[in-house]
Amino acid sequence: MKIIMLGAPGAGKGTQAIKIADKYGIPHISTGDLFRSNIGNNTELGREAKQYMDAGKLVPDELTVRMLFDRVSNEDCKNGYVLDGFPRTIAQAEVLEEEVGKRDDRIDFAINVDVPDDHIIRRMSGRRACPKCGATYHIEHVPPKKEGICDSCGEQLILRNDDAPETVQKRLDVYHEQTQPLIDFYDKRKILRTVDGTKDLQDVFGEIVKILGD
Ligand code: ADP
Ligand code: AMP
Repeated sequence: MKIIMLGAPGAGKGTQAIKIADKYGIPHISTGDLFRSNIGNNTELGREAKQYMDAGKLVPDELTVRMLFDRVSNEDCKNGYVLDGFPRTIAQAEVLEEEVGKRDDRIDFAINVDVPDDHIIRRMSGRRACPKCGATYHIEHVPPKKEGICDSCGEQLILRNDDAPETVQKRLDVYHEQTQPLIDFYDKRKILRTVDGTKDLQDVFGEIVKILGD
């Protein structure tokens, strides 16, 4: 099964993608996590991507596409994957469609996690991330067991650089301009499914399971 998660930054794509990966036994691939891991390892790609990410902009398609295809060519992706944060532009969606098509295959569903902007801005100020393992929490909705500490690896949690309110607004503008057109792109291909991302995260997951099947 090949699934794409669509939605604004902070809509809950990552939260739901992890649950999908776990239930359906497919890898969760987040281009944001791949970039952050490159930044953590101080690679050339990481250094290049960081300037764009900190400014709330998209990393250029060429770098992003190369990194993504490198990851999906791994053996663990042969039975599918859930993509979180990719594609984010029409150009990325077209390249993905072409690559998947070359293998006589196709994307099964594009799941749009729908959350209005005002809700996103409130939600993002509460997001906390683990800089070591990438786990995501929320101070109210998904708190760690011990305040400020990652449940999985014990690292101190941080507010992501790009989750500062001014950057979130910039990222939302970029989303509306460059990523939202993908909703129409996948609707035309009849694989778009929209879920209400303002609901409790278990209810959102319930809606997704109804779409993907048990
Ligand atoms: P995205 O991957 O779309 O950027 P995340 O999955 O990181 O978004 O979620 C953004 C923030 O909102 C996180 O702090 C997460 O814990 C929290 N969150 C995710 N889904 C919900 C939900 N349904 N209700 C409340 N908070 C949520
Ligand atoms: P995310 O963790 O998905 O919120 O992504 C964090 C940041 O990484 C984004 O704001 C972009 O700067 C960059 N990024 C992630 N995925 C992509 C993509 N598909 N195309 C371009 N930039 C991306």
